[in-house]
Amino acid sequence: MKVLKFGGTSVGSAERMKKLVSLVQDDEPKIVVLSAMSGTTNALLEIANALYEKDNGKAKLLCDALELKYQEVIKELYAKKPALEKAGGLIRDHFEHIRSFTLDMFTANEEKAILAQGELLSTAMFHYYLEEIGIPSVLLPALNFMRIDENEEPDMNYIESNLKDELDKYKGQKLFITQGYICRNAFGEVDNLKRGGSDYTATLVGAALTSEEVQIWTDIDGMHNNDPRIVNKTVPVTELSYDEAAELAYFGAKILHPTCVLPAQKRRVPVRLLNTMEPLAQGTLISDRNFTDRITAVAAKDGITAIKIKSTRMLLAHGFLRSVFEVFERYKTPIDMITTSEVAVSLTIDNPKFLDPIIAELVQFGTVEVDRDQTIICIVGSFTAEKQGFALKIFESLKGISLRMISYGGSENNVSVLVNTASKKEALMALNKGLFNL
Ligand code: ASP
Ligand code: MG
Repeated sequence: MKVLKFGGTSVGSAERMKKLVSLVQDDEPKIVVLSAMSGTTNALLEIANALYEKDNGKAKLLCDALELKYQEVIKELYAKKPALEKAGGLIRDHFEHIRSFTLDMFTANEEKAILAQGELLSTAMFHYYLEEIGIPSVLLPALNFMRIDENEEPDMNYIESNLKDELDKYKGQKLFITQGYICRNAFGEVDNLKRGGSDYTATLVGAALTSEEVQIWTDIDGMHNNDPRIVNKTVPVTELSYDEAAELAYFGAKILHPTCVLPAQKRRVPVRLLNTMEPLAQGTLISDRNFTDRITAVAAKDGITAIKIKSTRMLLAHGFLRSVFEVFERYKTPIDMITTSEVAVSLTIDNPKFLDPIIAELVQFGTVEVDRDQTIICIVGSFTAEKQGFALKIFESLKGISLRMISYGGSENNVSVLVNTASKKEALMALNKGLFNL
């Protein structure tokens, strides 16, 4: 069973939904994972924010506008009355559900219930469309099998056994449609896999079934060697190892959800990134094939804060780093990069939510300096320590750029440097030239 995931733009209009049919309709058994129509999750988030602010009038207006958009889409999507009426009713029901949250106090659980509506709508609408044109399909409710545990990690055993039970109900069926992104939590409430989480759904489903392949369909022809939004000339990378792909996804390559490579890697399920606009393009294959001695791609992650803690107490002392890290642990703030000298340590975080209390605790160790608006530039590849010259190539390329931190040797797949966000574009362009000759 293959798993095919289509993102928001691939289901973003009636026209795009119709075009999907040709990509899913062959005789091979498959599970199709869909995102919400593009813009929907953001719109739902806006509704939720208005409700948090107790601005029910604004929430109602936003809700009406979004409902109208859906009612317009179905007029274009369906040719006949039965499908049109069924979809019209579906949309009314979902928006009534959203409006029901305007009646009393708004909670985080209700926000999650609102955010789930986009995928519930897109999958049902696509299923009705297939029905109208006479292609049999089954709508599998993700809320019956996708679950996260009390640490918000996917509950793999639960997912595997419940998904298999669901599929067993439909022996002989070949085309299954399910919602990306949404799940239940350890308490059985509606929850989600965080923004962009439909990719994660796809690889979790693929891993649960040890699929022969997971395909992630987007609107770009695979993972590129550099950020195409910033650098003019980039090329798709045809093959990546799981480790390379995971580094790229985590460090800013927006095409993939940061943690979605892991489940596929664990079960050795290949992941192929493909382009709905150009279905025949080769795309990128992510697999357990390992590469040696190459620089594969660069990516950038913005919104980074660097923190330097300087203390003579660190000199020859043990336990210093542990005490520093414990502060971050108490505030559940992950650290991305670390560099140390004998008397100072610099580290970066991407979530500044608890920055103030963290600094308040860190000053007990020494002087603390904070630099905001930093960007991690991550050079991904497969570099073994024995092979010489990679560092030289990277830093030769970056010779005109001020570097705040350098991290080399943490893994064989990543060299990271920290720069001011203002220098990001220049750094990415310099690397494109120096490393890829583009
Ligand atoms: N619809 C969700 C989002 O916009 C999940 C996804 O598209 O992957 O984040
Ligand atoms: Mg996405």
